[in-house]
Amino acid sequence: MKKTENKVLRDKFWEKYTLDQMNSMEWEALCDGCGKCCLLKLENESQIYLTNIACAQIDLQNCRCQNYKKRTELVKNCMSLTKENLKINLKWLPYTCSYKLVSDKQSLPPWHHLITKDRNTVHELGFSIKNNCIHETKVQKKNMRSHVIAEIGN
Ligand code: SF4
Ligand code: SF4
Repeated sequence: MKKTENKVLRDKFWEKYTLDQMNSMEWEALCDGCGKCCLLKLENESQIYLTNIACAQIDLQNCRCQNYKKRTELVKNCMSLTKENLKINLKWLPYTCSYKLVSDKQSLPPWHHLITKDRNTVHELGFSIKNNCIHETKVQKKNMRSHVIAEIGN
């Protein structure tokens, strides 16, 4: 692959190419910005539970990480999704996650910003965690278990 190819979004790349064939810019652009992967998970024995608590690093106005470049240094359990680790992380990603959809050869939803050309659609139509979660800084550790919303396996 030529170096310059990493700096362009190819036409309908999400339909034409596999995740492995995407360049770094396309890989980043594929994220729908829902913020669902930034909800905290609790572990109890071998089970993992999803909560409605959003990571302290997220800005809930736009569901973006406030320290994206340093995210894995700042937050122990923050996972940087890559082509290499996608397979092992598919099980806990939400069914709407674009990486999961493309991996399963499914279409992106009509509200995805690559379709609408508007990064706010995901929030306006309620497919993000905006207005659907509580910020970690507002929850006491002892109360975290009361925020469990689903079991996501082990
Ligand atoms: S769940 Fe998937 S699409 Fe949504 S923010 Fe996380 S990586 Fe992006
Ligand atoms: S550090 Fe950033 S990317 Fe990682 S979980 Fe928190 S908000 Fe999400």
